[in-house]
Amino acid sequence: MELYPDISLKTSAPALGTRCWIFPQPPFILGYEQPDRVLLSILPDEIGDGPSDILMYVADPLFDKEPYGFSGLPPYRGPQRRSVRSGPDRHFDSLDPRSRDYLGVHAYACIHFVLDVWRNYLARPMHWFFSDLYPRLEIVPFVRWNNAHAGFGFIELGCSETGGEQSPYALNFDTIAHEIGHLITLSQTGLPGNLSRDADFFPFSEAISDSISLISFLHFDSAIDRLLRRTKGNLLLYNELNRFAETSPETQIRLATNFRRMSEVTSEAHDRSLPLLGAIFDTIVELYHRELVASGCADRRLLSVNLRDLTQDEFDWFRQTTAEAFRDRPLFFKLALIKARDSVGGAIGAALHRLDPDTMRLGDAALAIISAADLQAAAQLEENFVWREIIGSR
Ligand SMILES: [Zn+2]
Repeated sequence: MELYPDISLKTSAPALGTRCWIFPQPPFILGYEQPDRVLLSILPDEIGDGPSDILMYVADPLFDKEPYGFSGLPPYRGPQRRSVRSGPDRHFDSLDPRSRDYLGVHAYACIHFVLDVWRNYLARPMHWFFSDLYPRLEIVPFVRWNNAHAGFGFIELGCSETGGEQSPYALNFDTIAHEIGHLITLSQTGLPGNLSRDADFFPFSEAISDSISLISFLHFDSAIDRLLRRTKGNLLLYNELNRFAETSPETQIRLATNFRRMSEVTSEAHDRSLPLLGAIFDTIVELYHRELVASGCADRRLLSVNLRDLTQDEFDWFRQTTAEAFRDRPLFFKLALIKARDSVGGAIGAALHRLDPDTMRLGDAALAIISAADLQAAAQLEENFVWREIIGSR
């Protein structure tokens, strides 16, 4: 007996988007072994073999290729693997997401997913900064190289090696979202032309790309569910989050929970990006606290104590009451996190185009993000940027 026949192969359903598989975290991470089925906003009719479309295409070299930057620029003209075709229903979720063929589809799907998210937040339409020369982004899903980068007309993904195991970055949503974060940032700020000596564009760009990646990750319903269930809603507790984050399987959360201030970092771009990233992440957590208090899921005292210096007793009390509230009303926790995520995402998205990449300092970025935020988020952002020594108190 077949209770519900699969009608998707028989009739063409109204065009809502294109189905693909995405692993919200690499499949070797505990708890993330199964991919999510996502609906990209691009329609099946708009996607050709490869996959390819008006914005991007996959070029999967048949033989090892030197990464761009070391040799040449797109388009890739060498021999390529057979281009991947969609399934009989024109979607991509009938293909095996663990197959070698799927690497390119996965990277393609992740890029569309991130663009779909950020289209909502950006103040200006997103155009590739290289579109005068290259109308489309080339996606190279696999090169033998322990790195990933995006540049003039391309994103290229290598693989990491741990314990003799190869893990392609094409299956790593965080990495792809970070690289696309750079392209999104440049689409709004424009390309630096004449960087002044003390401009902070590179650390700024690293912090924003990590934020873009983290906020995009929080758009997987399954990821929010896993995060909240594992912590029993306890993003609520700064200390707990920090303890949790040290061993967190979600890479971007591990990076974002840091306590560095500007006086404690070096001039190296990744290091110098940490206070800005940390302040952005802290703001998401604190806005989440406010929402929980407003919906009666957390005690008001949570907003007045200094979470950085909780005693063990206070900490245990908060943990227990939050866990109880989460057990009773998990939906409120999810809504709180979504609201906090969108306030901060919206502020970043609306601020980017106001910055001059040649002269901007991290303080300018902080002020632009504050002035693009809603009132509550602005106050929280300002407090965190001050604590991080990115701006002075006003
Ligand atoms: Zn980067």
